Amino acid sequence: MTSIAFIGLGHMGGPMAANLVGAGHDVRGFDLAGPSLELARQNGIATFPSLAETVSGAGTVITMLPAGKHVLAVWQELVEAVPAGTLLIDCSTIDIDSAGKAHALAAAKGCPALDAPVSGGTGGAAAGTLTFMIGGAVEVFAGAEPVFKAMGSRIIHCGDASAGQAAKICNNMILGISMIAVGEAFVLGEKLGLTHQALYDVASVSSGQCWSLTTYCPVPGPVPTSPANRNYEPGFAAALMLKDLKLSQAAAEDAGAMTPLGAKAARLYQLFADEGFGEKDFSGIINMLRDKSVSG
Ligand code: NAD
Repeated sequence: MTSIAFIGLGHMGGPMAANLVGAGHDVRGFDLAGPSLELARQNGIATFPSLAETVSGAGTVITMLPAGKHVLAVWQELVEAVPAGTLLIDCSTIDIDSAGKAHALAAAKGCPALDAPVSGGTGGAAAGTLTFMIGGAVEVFAGAEPVFKAMGSRIIHCGDASAGQAAKICNNMILGISMIAVGEAFVLGEKLGLTHQALYDVASVSSGQCWSLTTYCPVPGPVPTSPANRNYEPGFAAALMLKDLKLSQAAAEDAGAMTPLGAKAARLYQLFADEGFGEKDFSGIINMLRDKSVSG
């Protein structure tokens, strides 16, 4: 097994790196936060005081960081520290422009690179069942597949550089819009005297069926495992949904794509976050829709 360096051991990176250890890889980890490093050590990850020491001797380096500016700063340091030929993989969700710049940094150094954002949340990261959406040369993807398989169950090559990020922000634009649609339907149903269970029983087997309804149902009851049943503790925080909707809006503007519902969803999640609910699960937006409805 090759040695893998993992940079960014937070909510997602920590358990992903632990699954690489579980698959028998020698994993070297780095993070700026002491508690993340401590947890990583408990999970069998060797930690080092600097990025350069962490990546020394690693054949593959994975980054899992908050946003594009963090990825570009770390990749700039990385290409100065690793030899040509080291495989660089970014699993963070970042803007298309930064993803392209990261690929360019790697190419200038002679390092193969992949953008590989994920879907599945912290639960999927812990269980090793993430979906990976991957951009980069197909032969680089093929060589890296065993690494992804240790952390995920669905590994999809989406196209050339940045195609993984493109797939991620398009998917999450669907999710952000569809959660609002499901929330609106439950609020209207309440006003029309429908029980949550009755609407769920119909829509979950009819043409309104979608993930936001059947897996993440925004009202308590019909889907006992959804965040609505635990006071909207995330799950997937509204602040992260807002981040992804902003990324898709920036991409839509650059690409000239008409995305009016994506734009509206971004404004509604901004309002929800501004009202102090950014750390709640994104499905909690139904409560804002209900609160702002007028009594009939
Ligand atoms: P997080 O804040 O828990 O973890 C990020 C980690 O990066 C932190 O531990 C931080 O200390 C570290 N870090 C920041 N700058 C660094 C640097 N220069 N060097 C080393 N470490 C540094 O965030 P997260 O929830 O793990 O999310 C990571 C990425 O995954 C984000 O891009 C997010 O959008 C994406 N994502 C998150 C989820 C989720 O449910 N949390 C789901 C899918 C995708």
